[in-house]
Amino acid sequence: MIFKKSNFERRVSLKTDVRDGILSYCKMKHPNEGILILKGKSKNGNIMIDGLVIPPFSHGGPTFAGFPHSFLPFDTSYVGTVHSHPTGPAKPSVTDLHNFFGLVSMIVKSPYEDDDILAWDSKGNSIPISIV
Ligand SMILES: [Zn+2]
Repeated sequence: MIFKKSNFERRVSLKTDVRDGILSYCKMKHPNEGILILKGKSKNGNIMIDGLVIPPFSHGGPTFAGFPHSFLPFDTSYVGTVHSHPTGPAKPSVTDLHNFFGLVSMIVKSPYEDDDILAWDSKGNSIPISIV
């Protein structure tokens, strides 16, 4: 019997200028949470992120940053979201997993340096990030 490997390895490729944009946005929003939409494309499990969109109607507070998904225009180039955790680890909370959007959820923890970004799938498994 042949087992097909159905779960291909996911990875995230993040452009340097996009990463820098995320980090400065999170620093600007601190001590509140900031949230951005990730633009890019996905091919064979590799999610290439090459742009950022500030979500419409975003409301940031110290505990949760979110936006109503129903207001989002349908756009196939939206691959996920990134938001900041001004306190605590860069791990998805239960609320984060309930509000999962797209293919990847990236979380940035304070003090928002290069290594403070982590990527997660909808089940809360970490996805490796490579900076390109
Ligand atoms: Zn969160």
